[in-house]
Amino acid sequence: MSAHEVTCIPGDGIGPELMQAARRVLESTGVRIAWDVQEAGADCIPHEGTPLPNRVLDSLRRTRVGWKGPLTTPVGGGFRSVNVTLRAELDLYVSLRPAKSYAGIPTAIPRVDIVVVRENTEDLYAGLEFEAGTPAIERIRDLVQETLGRTFKPDSALSLKPISASGSRRIVEYAFDHAVRAGRRKVTAVHKANIMKTTDGLFLAVAREVAALHPQIEFEEAIIDALCMRLVQSPRSFDVLVLPNLYGDIVSDLCAAFVGGLGVAPGANLGADVALFEPVHGSAPQFKGSGVMNPTALLLSGAMMLRHLGEKQAGDRLERAIASVLAQGRIVTPDLLPKDERARGATTEQMADAIVQALEN
Ligand code: NAD
Repeated sequence: MSAHEVTCIPGDGIGPELMQAARRVLESTGVRIAWDVQEAGADCIPHEGTPLPNRVLDSLRRTRVGWKGPLTTPVGGGFRSVNVTLRAELDLYVSLRPAKSYAGIPTAIPRVDIVVVRENTEDLYAGLEFEAGTPAIERIRDLVQETLGRTFKPDSALSLKPISASGSRRIVEYAFDHAVRAGRRKVTAVHKANIMKTTDGLFLAVAREVAALHPQIEFEEAIIDALCMRLVQSPRSFDVLVLPNLYGDIVSDLCAAFVGGLGVAPGANLGADVALFEPVHGSAPQFKGSGVMNPTALLLSGAMMLRHLGEKQAGDRLERAIASVLAQGRIVTPDLLPKDERARGATTEQMADAIVQALEN
């Protein structure tokens, strides 16, 4: 069989060292992959004038499948997040983030198995922002006064929160389709429609319509603040969560904490044309070059990618190999060990070796 073409974006910070180890593991499944390696991020700016050169987008549009390490985003200024831009440019409207417990990882609550389906293109993450003190803000203030009879402080900055009926429909439909495909029993739609009656209200109204078309799947509504409390109290009572962008971002990190933290949480960004797989965690720049960061999240996203490529058996085998190394707990990175045992933690490469070995057994 011919090789699958996959765009590989190593990322920055801890990304390249994790990707190097993870690629070796993925290749040892025997699945043939032709990698198109594409650098992106701040290091591209001096030579190419942008952190996201067109060649990266062109490659993803061509291969339709990408595997990506994390990319650093400057806080409070600088260039727009490359991660957010990639999702917007390629219309990767689904962020799929499974939070599943694996034996051997110390967690407060065992056997959590939640899938977070986060809308990825709209909401406060649309990047529609206005700086304080600009003429645009004055015009918006006038419009708000004229249409709503209200105002806001003149020294405010402003972010717009667009939530569309079509955007809500496709994400809720994806959540229900995923629930059906994956044999799951319940979808919970998360909102704050009691306060944001127009935007979250629209999301909720659409969710109810879509739910009515799927009577075989239980449907539940939850207000975001109450959901956070219920999640911490009884995470096992949840199954598939579907959320607008901002809530989804926060709740997926919360769910990652149930199953052992960011080091083990994988994700996929999916659109009609392109699928991009990545860990939930960021580039942890302070640990760049440490050689002891956890490759599990990136590898679990690799297992999701193999299944997406039609290599279900290899994806399942890879997940089982990772799970067995985690369960044995002998050769794992320090973040997976109790504080007093961290000194015996394995390096990224040693943990990758152990997973390759488990694949061969
Ligand atoms: P982070 O996820 O990079 O790190 C937070 C902490 O989580 C780290 O200090 C570390 O203790 C732990 N951690 C993360 N990954 C780990 C791993 N593989 N193994 C072990 N421990 C791990 O979050 P941050 O510090 O808030 O963000 C750093 C940068 O990453 C920022 O620029 C942020 O914008 C970016 N970021 C990128 C993505 C992405 O590329 N999709 C996602 C989130 C954050």
